[in-house]
Amino acid sequence: MSHTLPDDTVDHGARAAFREAVAGLDASLEGVALTPEDAGYPEACAGYNLAGRRHPDVVVTAHSASDVVEAVTFAAAHDLPVAVVATGHHAMRPLEGGLLVSTAAMDDVHVDADARRAVVGAGARWSDVVPRTAEHHLTPVHGSSGQVGAVGFTLGGGLSPVLGRKYGWGSDHIVSLDVVTASGEVVRASAEDHADLFWALRGGRSNLGIVTSMEIELFPVDRFVGGGLFYDGEHAEAVLSAFVAATATAPDDLTLSLAFLRLPPVPGVPPLLAGRFVLHLRVAYLGDAAGADDLLAPLRAAAPVIVDTVEETRAVDFERIHNDPTDPAPFSEETSMLAGVGPDAQRALLELVGPTSDTGLHIVELRQLGGAFDVTRPGAGAIVAPEAAYVLWALSIGMPEEDADGIAQARALVEAVRPWSTGSRYLNFAPDDGHPERSFTPTDWSRLLHVKAAVDPRNLFRTQQPLIES
Ligand SMILES: Cc1cc2nc3c(=O)[nH]c(=O)nc-3n(C[C@H](O)[C@H](O)[C@H](O)COP(=O)(O)OP(=O)(O)OC[C@H]3O[C@@H](n4cnc5c(N)ncnc54)[C@H](O)[C@@H]3O)c2cc1C
Repeated sequence: MSHTLPDDTVDHGARAAFREAVAGLDASLEGVALTPEDAGYPEACAGYNLAGRRHPDVVVTAHSASDVVEAVTFAAAHDLPVAVVATGHHAMRPLEGGLLVSTAAMDDVHVDADARRAVVGAGARWSDVVPRTAEHHLTPVHGSSGQVGAVGFTLGGGLSPVLGRKYGWGSDHIVSLDVVTASGEVVRASAEDHADLFWALRGGRSNLGIVTSMEIELFPVDRFVGGGLFYDGEHAEAVLSAFVAATATAPDDLTLSLAFLRLPPVPGVPPLLAGRFVLHLRVAYLGDAAGADDLLAPLRAAAPVIVDTVEETRAVDFERIHNDPTDPAPFSEETSMLAGVGPDAQRALLELVGPTSDTGLHIVELRQLGGAFDVTRPGAGAIVAPEAAYVLWALSIGMPEEDADGIAQARALVEAVRPWSTGSRYLNFAPDDGHPERSFTPTDWSRLLHVKAAVDPRNLFRTQQPLIES
């Protein structure tokens, strides 16, 4: 998208009028409205994935739902497309122009322990939410990283490495969403009210409006057995085969994922992983240590384990399973949902990312689905994947313009496993490459477009994985 507003060098008068209008917007906010000339603008636009550069005409750091209303109303009046960022974990296409709403400051969390529900602000990260629910021995359907935003994660599906196989997708456990629509209205969308919008937001995300808070269900989980088994990369064939065998028979209480890690020797990467090829088997078991030991025995025997961190864990310490990096970095991602990973698929994977490959991909992960992920619940959102057994996720670190090889290798990997793919891709791991339809069934895709046309006929929300390009 090109800049939507006059450039200084082109039209001083129009630019000054716009800056004055932004000053008016700023005065109406609890947060602030900033243009590129203002101090604080780069910080307000920043996010975790440095590849997702943002350079809007104006950024609003919202502190409340009414700030979001003011921002959307301003954008509509000035014909500016609207984008939203919470943490910036998802690499969206570069944002040039328009109005960006940052929800980072809206991080309130309220827990109703009796109802087993929480109301989570649009900017809350899982590290804001889980400690609060843990006080009541309850856990939400959270992701692997505490840094990821709860709302963005959940609207994009919500694949939990701890609770998912037992309780299903996070998006299935949203009770209601408060959302500011393109008309500047605040509505509460739920199974009872604005049901079409409620369905579409769970997949259509910021194409439909800006969620200001989300009410979610909580589950009575306060401990699990979890951590990781690390192996030298030379054992990839044996470990991959043992992983696939274990996932085929695992109870729904056990969730496994296997990552092929080739992390650079940079600050923040532990010495064990820096500059070498390591396999990381990620484990979460909603049971006791003895049960976990029985289930993990074949995996511990598959190859020499360099480090074993699996132990009884408080629910609040979930980040020790994946140990996701916390420092911002640029990266590109690719993904595919796989129906199975039989011997031929394993061979294809090993050829491209095994010990004899010269891949530059830094992280390639196979996440186990199945169990409750397979259940399409009545009232589920636009994201369902009943026939997928695994999600493949490939990440390449680097700014996109300097990482053509990594991006090409990630695409080649997805292409190589196409024979085993369900043809769909998981929205939360999907690149913003102009093919949002690939995350939905054809029926859901046409329903999404229908809801979009009804709630945002001017296509104000068209900048992030747009359902309809401008
Ligand atoms: C290290 C790491 C670990 C991850 N682990 C998991 C995991 O275990 N399971 C999983 O499912 N995913 C996981 N993800 C993917 C993550 O869930 C997605 O990138 C998600 O989109 C991030 O949401 P965010 O709000 O943090 O990021 P942002 O980049 O701020 O937002 C991403 C998108 O979410 C939408 N969005 C955010 N806030 C709003 C809002 N208020 N209203 C409407 N739309 C909104 C917008 O479309 C936005 O572009 C992981 C990603 C990383 C980098």
